[in-house]
Amino acid sequence: MIDEIKIAKKADEVRGAKIKFPIDPIVVAKSLGVQVFTASLPRNVSGQIFYAEKKIFIEQTDFITRQTFSVAHELGHFILHNDGTSHTSPRNTTTSQGIDIKEIEANCFAANLLMPKDEVLHLVGLGFAVDSMANYFGVSSIAMQYHLNNLGVSAYV
Ligand SMILES: [Zn+2]
Repeated sequence: MIDEIKIAKKADEVRGAKIKFPIDPIVVAKSLGVQVFTASLPRNVSGQIFYAEKKIFIEQTDFITRQTFSVAHELGHFILHNDGTSHTSPRNTTTSQGIDIKEIEANCFAANLLMPKDEVLHLVGLGFAVDSMANYFGVSSIAMQYHLNNLGVSAYV
């Protein structure tokens, strides 16, 4: 199992006092000296990070919500797994298939960076539906629902 509380805390630190939503992970990356580029990546790859060079590459043809999550995911690797080399993230790790602990941790970081728990609970309390929250946070409905499940929170569909 991964330490979700610790990872969420790191996401909070990296995000800083920023309270404007949606969070732009490219701006967050910049604050860490990390540059983000779009590129044509292999079909089974969603993103790559080169730690020493501080460069993230994401797939240029992905939807914006997917690109946003990919940048946040690669930042998760940067914060949690930086070994000075590089990392390539395979696709389709948001579901519970093909489980690599680093991928789960990076997804956890990304979800908490983009969708802070306090804000999610606030919106749920106001009666926001899943799609509305997804729009608010600039993520896909699938990513929103997945995060809600992880938080053990249910919302209107
Ligand atoms: Zn990854």
